[in-house]
Amino acid sequence: MTRRNLLQQTLALGASTAVSGLASTLPQEANVHTLGAAVMPKMPPVRNVVVVGAGVFGLWAALTLLRSDLRVTLVDAFGVGNIRSSSSDETRALRAGYGATEVYVSMVARSIELWKAHEEKTKRELFVQSGCLWLMGEDEKFFRQSIPALKKYNLPFDEFTPDEVTKKYPLVTGDGVRHGFFEAKAGYLLARRSCESLLEAFIAEGGEYRVSGMKGKVIRGGEVESIQLADGAVLNAEQFVFACGAWLPEIFPELLEDMIRPTRQEVFYFGVNFEDKRISKFPVWVDMTGKDLFYGIQGSGKETLASGFKIASDTRGGPFSPSTGDRMPSEEGLSAVRRFLRMRFPALSNAPLIQARVCQYENSTDGDFIIDRLPDAKNGLIIGGGSGHGFKHAPVIGEIAADILLKGKQTPKEFRIGRLVRK
Ligand SMILES: Cc1cc2nc3c(=O)[nH]c(=O)nc-3n(C[C@H](O)[C@H](O)[C@H](O)COP(=O)(O)OP(=O)(O)OC[C@H]3O[C@@H](n4cnc5c(N)ncnc54)[C@H](O)[C@@H]3O)c2cc1C
Repeated sequence: MTRRNLLQQTLALGASTAVSGLASTLPQEANVHTLGAAVMPKMPPVRNVVVVGAGVFGLWAALTLLRSDLRVTLVDAFGVGNIRSSSSDETRALRAGYGATEVYVSMVARSIELWKAHEEKTKRELFVQSGCLWLMGEDEKFFRQSIPALKKYNLPFDEFTPDEVTKKYPLVTGDGVRHGFFEAKAGYLLARRSCESLLEAFIAEGGEYRVSGMKGKVIRGGEVESIQLADGAVLNAEQFVFACGAWLPEIFPELLEDMIRPTRQEVFYFGVNFEDKRISKFPVWVDMTGKDLFYGIQGSGKETLASGFKIASDTRGGPFSPSTGDRMPSEEGLSAVRRFLRMRFPALSNAPLIQARVCQYENSTDGDFIIDRLPDAKNGLIIGGGSGHGFKHAPVIGEIAADILLKGKQTPKEFRIGRLVRK
């Protein structure tokens, strides 16, 4: 039986099953003692943790653990806010319309509180509560399915007719719009700035931060014993968190290669006049009227002009390597957003392109996050699979990680690795 088969079989058996008899026949790294977070044996108290990956998931996990009185070392190969990481763009939307998946609506409600608390503490603008406008065609099911959860978590919304949409938002043409919805508590996060401020808080509160890539790990006796860094350091800890975004499948190929698939995504920024109130008061928007979903962020906060009017398509691009993928945006991508701009925002048709980026979604196979213990090392926690919507949720992901590591809580079922194993 190969190591991959064993891991997959183990996970398919369910998080609470123990494998016996096989472990001694496997190479050291594959010793499987416990499976998932469901039946953790009594853990010794955790005193020190190493978090690998300082994207928004690793940062919030590291800060939350640090605030739980642990010694935390945070490591990143390229540094916080590095251009290859998914967390490094100017802005990320925060919206609660999530169709029928209530778990994310509840996470958004809590995340808003935590982002605002962090913003308050740092005295820097990080969250611009511009609201979020949903433009829907005939089929408005996706938003409508969110409504019970929006009500439950006190996230108010308005519904507009197409005429009301164009009257209220003169920047928009009504082509194809049959329904409009507006989420008042939504908005956007200044992404790279948020990551930098999380790192500042982490260091100020006593965390240790190192810029060096993890080159290897020793898993022995069902535990991660240590990791080795490119700079030669060997880090030991009681617990390890691996929050390496799109790199996770490279780091755990047997386990995650089929479960997290990075795709190439292009984002374009257009130069606009922020003095124009139609633009500066425009909310985050999601357009679901056509075959492709487009979304964008106008980018003018109280003290920040986040590099122009952002537009991107949510359609998954081709497979992409976060380490070696070329980051030159394509002509086709630009033409597609220009076409969209002309159709939906004609006043911005001639706006100059001022910035374009290629980033990667780290898609799990079902689009839900992965927050779970390594099947072959009970003191190793994976956090990833942000799948193009993870940024906003990072504060709650940090809380979930701390609950699993410190309180022995179960991983929420939506985020267990076992769900992704092909039966
Ligand atoms: C184009 C685009 C648009 C998006 N829009 C939104 C949005 O509007 N709203 C939203 O909520 N979310 C959005 N997302 C998703 C969100 O940005 C991601 O889910 C989130 O940033 C993932 O964070 P992460 O920490 O898992 O990964 P990353 O930010 O990629 O961080 C991983 C880190 O791990 C480090 N690392 C990797 N390997 C190693 C190693 N061996 N040793 C040490 N360090 C290592 C990397 O250097 C990197 O810094 C979008 C994503 C993209 C790409």
